[in-house]
Amino acid sequence: MNIEENISLKKLNTFGIDSKASYFTEINSNSDFLSLVQTPVYKNNPKLVLGGGSNILFTKNFGGLVIKNSLKGIEMIDQNTDHVWVKVNAGENWHNFVMWCVQHNYGGLENLSLIPGCVGAAPMQNIGAYGVEIREHCEKVFALDMENGKETVFLNKDCKFGYRESVFKHHLKNKFLITGVIFKLNKKPVFNTSYGAIEQELAAMGVKELSIKAISDAVIRIRTSKLPDPADKGNAGSFFKNPEVSKDQHQELKTKFEKLVAYPLENGHFKLAAGWLIEQCGLKGRCVGQACVHDKQALVLVNMGAAKGDEVYKLSEEVLQAVKEKFGVALEREVNIY
Ligand code: FAD
Ligand code: NAP
Repeated sequence: MNIEENISLKKLNTFGIDSKASYFTEINSNSDFLSLVQTPVYKNNPKLVLGGGSNILFTKNFGGLVIKNSLKGIEMIDQNTDHVWVKVNAGENWHNFVMWCVQHNYGGLENLSLIPGCVGAAPMQNIGAYGVEIREHCEKVFALDMENGKETVFLNKDCKFGYRESVFKHHLKNKFLITGVIFKLNKKPVFNTSYGAIEQELAAMGVKELSIKAISDAVIRIRTSKLPDPADKGNAGSFFKNPEVSKDQHQELKTKFEKLVAYPLENGHFKLAAGWLIEQCGLKGRCVGQACVHDKQALVLVNMGAAKGDEVYKLSEEVLQAVKEKFGVALEREVNIY
């Protein structure tokens, strides 16, 4: 087990923030973790499990041990006429796994193509895009207790999945290291093209017959054209969650702001497009140091070069305040702040 000291995290987070970790190690198996748990560095320091670093903002150096989860492996464990069950280890790259599903024609995750990061972080915030969330396909999550390394299996219901939420992001935060996930996938695909942009892209691609591959290709094309590539401009995707408001608050806002972008939810509430709210505050392109609100998609904060984590954080505070003042709506950060 190699534990390094004073390591730069710049290449390990998609914001490209140059923070340092006092200690850093990488695990490739459960037994690596069990050995790590016995070390004095592990016992005497705060810990942070890192996947692809695409949903993290480091606002300062991390005075503890960063554990990069690199557990690899994809295995089909069961099947029947309609479904396959696949166990994927946490360190697998999410998009590569989705491409594996597309290649095998296993349906369900194609709308989640091109999301950065690792499989182990996917249950953390119940990743979602274009009308699909992993809660629809996640059957079990395997995790090791950070206290003693004991394995626990969480069933779907135990994960308490919500909109960009789960038990792992809240009261079990930093308590478990996720090692793998079992997904239930469809042999007979059920296509979801409920997001208008997908329909439009499929039409532009000249697709006559829907397929898992066609939807995945469409999502990749939309995402590539709209979202800043972290390799180009550091970012962590949507910095804020889309807020949910009551029917009455929605009505009040709609009366005041005719063009309000909102979607009805099953519980009678409405989801507001946070990007639109931020844009209406005139914040597109607003910068604090080298941290800016992206000029094409206001929900994304970008590092224009050498932004510091606290600059990104200050910018996010400005956004929260401006949206609260103009619309009376409290935005919440989606990105994990350290
Ligand atoms: P990290 O950033 O490494 O970690 C995130 C959190 O999870 C941290 O708190 C970390 O401690 C914890 N964690 C990571 N791995 C483990 C583990 N094995 N066990 C326990 N805890 C762990 N998200 C969406 O939901 N939908 C999108 O469409 C989407 N698009 C994006 C587009 C771009 C360009 C970018 C940069 C990000 C996007 N994201 C999106 C956010 C991000 O990609 C996802 O949240 C992703 O799942 C994060 O994975 P990661 O491995 O990079 O996690
Ligand atoms: P978009 O298509 O411009 O839509 C703007 C917002 O409106 C989205 O946030 C989306 O909510 C909502 N929306 C659009 N069509 C909808 C519909 N038919 N029903 C319900 N809600 C609808 O969004 P975008 O920024 O280009 O992102 C496209 C998708 O990728 C979204 O699902 C988004 O969540 C996801 N994405 C996520 C991240 C991240 O870091 N979390 C980053 C990039 C993209 P939802 O966000 O709830 O879907």
